[in-house]
Amino acid sequence: MGIAADIADDWHAALAALSWQVEAGVDEVILDAPVNRYALSAEAPRPAMARVAKATPDLPVESDPVAVAEAMAATAQSLDELRAAMAGYEHCELKKGARNLVFADGNPAARVLVLGEAPGAEEDREGRPFVGRAGQLLDRMFAAIGLSRTSPDPATALYITNVLPWRPPGNRDPEPAEIAMLRPFLERHIALANPEVIVVMGNTPLDALTGQRGILRARGMWMEALGRPLLPMTHPAYLLRNPTAKREAWADLLALQTRLNSER
Ligand code: URA
Repeated sequence: MGIAADIADDWHAALAALSWQVEAGVDEVILDAPVNRYALSAEAPRPAMARVAKATPDLPVESDPVAVAEAMAATAQSLDELRAAMAGYEHCELKKGARNLVFADGNPAARVLVLGEAPGAEEDREGRPFVGRAGQLLDRMFAAIGLSRTSPDPATALYITNVLPWRPPGNRDPEPAEIAMLRPFLERHIALANPEVIVVMGNTPLDALTGQRGILRARGMWMEALGRPLLPMTHPAYLLRNPTAKREAWADLLALQTRLNSER
């Protein structure tokens, strides 16, 4: 019996082998025999589009992923409805390779919303943002100024989410088209959570909300996005690789604390 037959006999081994491939960034399955796509009917329905059409008959089904996201996001009247709308969005390829939709964590009533980039492997497994090593550092950083994702008191709580709710394969950088199609959900997410202050961790969320990059120059400088004060900070994964930059991150945390105290 060959390796393939052994694996086929063992469901758990097959699942582990598949997970290993997804971890390694495989996002496409190639068949044993080539398919002549010119011979396929142009009329054949596309399953993903058909599903969206059925679930949401009034939406602009015809193919503009951003317009579909805008329409779906606009219908959400609560965070639970927004999560359901995102779970039903079929236009982002990342969804197919992800194990979980990583929506948010923490207290939705928090004064401070922390925005990261995208889930990594551990976040994908758990379905919660910032639970890996970078997330543990993030928790310690904010705890140092008295803020925590587990606090029931909005004054000392954090609400944490990401620009992308699905893990990019192999932790590659998000593509501009992915950010553009998921941005309507992000904007609605922020509107529904209604934080007083947004803290963006790293270039991707800075770019997604302000159109600017260059986090090392922007960090610590108060900006505005979506009508709210926004503070850019370096990403905790960057701080793990560059511990000397923690000094500036500490200054940024103190700036956040000062602002929160002055507006209490
Ligand atoms: N990095 C992020 O930006 N977000 C996460 O949820 C985890 C790591």
